[in-house]
Amino acid sequence: MARAMSETDSLPRLQMFIDGDWTDSGSGEYFESFDPYTAKAWTLVPRGNADDVERAVQAAQRAFISGDWPKMHASQRGLLLRRLGDLIARDAEKLAAIEVQDNGKLISEMAGQLKYTPQWYYYYGGLADKIEGAVIPSDKDAFNYTRHEPLGVCAAITPWNSPVLLFGLKVAPALAAGNTLVVKPSEYTSASTLALMKLFEEAGFPDGVINVVTGYGPEAGEPLVKHPLVRKVAFTGSSKTGAHVYCEAARDIKRVSLELGGKSPNIVFDDCKMENAVKGVVSGIFAATGQTCIAGSRLLVQESIHDEFVDKLVDFAKTARMGNPMDYDTQVGPVTNLMQYEKVLGYIDIAKSEGVETVLGGAKATRPECGDGWFVEPTVFTGVKNSMRIAQEEVFGPVLSVIPFRDEDEALEIGNDVIFGLAAGVWTEDIRRAIRMSERLQAGTVWVNTYRAFSYTTPFGGYKRSGLGRENGQEAIHEYMQTKSVWISTSDEVPDPFVMR
Ligand code: NAD
Repeated sequence: MARAMSETDSLPRLQMFIDGDWTDSGSGEYFESFDPYTAKAWTLVPRGNADDVERAVQAAQRAFISGDWPKMHASQRGLLLRRLGDLIARDAEKLAAIEVQDNGKLISEMAGQLKYTPQWYYYYGGLADKIEGAVIPSDKDAFNYTRHEPLGVCAAITPWNSPVLLFGLKVAPALAAGNTLVVKPSEYTSASTLALMKLFEEAGFPDGVINVVTGYGPEAGEPLVKHPLVRKVAFTGSSKTGAHVYCEAARDIKRVSLELGGKSPNIVFDDCKMENAVKGVVSGIFAATGQTCIAGSRLLVQESIHDEFVDKLVDFAKTARMGNPMDYDTQVGPVTNLMQYEKVLGYIDIAKSEGVETVLGGAKATRPECGDGWFVEPTVFTGVKNSMRIAQEEVFGPVLSVIPFRDEDEALEIGNDVIFGLAAGVWTEDIRRAIRMSERLQAGTVWVNTYRAFSYTTPFGGYKRSGLGRENGQEAIHEYMQTKSVWISTSDEVPDPFVMR
């Protein structure tokens, strides 16, 4: 949890957004949000609780059943979403700076990400009026058709690692489908989600259509999940919290989609283009300081090229520039929060105690350019066995475990031998092998000769304990809709009422 604030603190205070109003939490309490580069608090976030959730859900419910929103045609909702996309594009720099300060993400990554983020709003804005039902060729005397309808109030709960992007993955399809929303961002990174609310206001969304309650998971997230008026929970976060959310949502038979953790294999065969594979492995584990669900945290290398590949990888990774995430030249930024920083360092100790060999990093970063920030040196361990904790558990930091394999079968066996199944990478020049591997890997995404490719057009989600449901692409909008069948009799009479027709 973020540290509780001292009473004398005079930092700027953020407000929550409920029913079109900017508001403090009912309790009047705040907590600090930290800049991971300086390790200092920079703003105060309202500490929402069940009462604030109640206000937000009631506002969302009102907006769902009355007022302008339910009267709007799908194309009008689409227009609002596209307008919002334009506003995000306009304010990209401002939003990027907030995210860098609150999260420690690199400005270079955020600049790229925010240039791309409007696409979610354009895509789902465009899709809003293309969700067609069907006329069923009925075998009864009836005109029979289906409609795809929104669910009602949806909860969107997001993690700290990519707040703006992950917000859009849920909010854009949910609103395109005609739902209303209560969003609960991570307690570590609430600022950018609140900044986005200013743009929703400006775009002209009716009051209550989208609401944000900030706060800690158990205090604000849990009452939201449990609220009887919430019909769907869209959750991104750890597998442990996701499992708990799933159980709580089950009590009310709520719809749930879960985007959870990963321990993805990045598999390098001896026929690969080695320079490309090295870059792909680096992008899989050191980009975003390894704080991505899709991190390629297990590098499986074919025995015949193991030593050569590891040497090249270490030579390249060694050159990564660490430091101020606001500098465009920085390549590896800080870990986002103190809890995670300590967790990553803890896993480094665990790996060492399991007997691995440290060939790069393996400690907190003490370079002068890292200042007091929460930096961990990019770390590569060799001699890792897939049964070790370092190979089985999600670290969510810049820590790579290298595991050798003999052949395709062994690569698959090791690659699939985890509880997760979010993503996998394959590096080979053999197209037959690429197809075989992509068919047999148990993962929601398989990349061949690339890594981290991601788009609003393309379904994304997990196999096994990496999640349920899909975000992105046309599939995602149906995660926020339900199908109704309508029967209209074409017969002049109602036949025998005691017999089912
Ligand atoms: P987390 O599970 O600790 O928290 C996620 C969100 O859940 C936060 O907003 C938190 O406040 C809230 N929460 C916590 N307890 C809750 C409760 N009892 N009820 C309701 N909400 C609660 O995860 P995190 O540390 O913020 O994020 C990192 C994790 O997210 C990693 O495991 C990562 O792999 C995963 N992730 C997955 C994807 C994906 O698309 N699969 C994307 C990004 C991150």
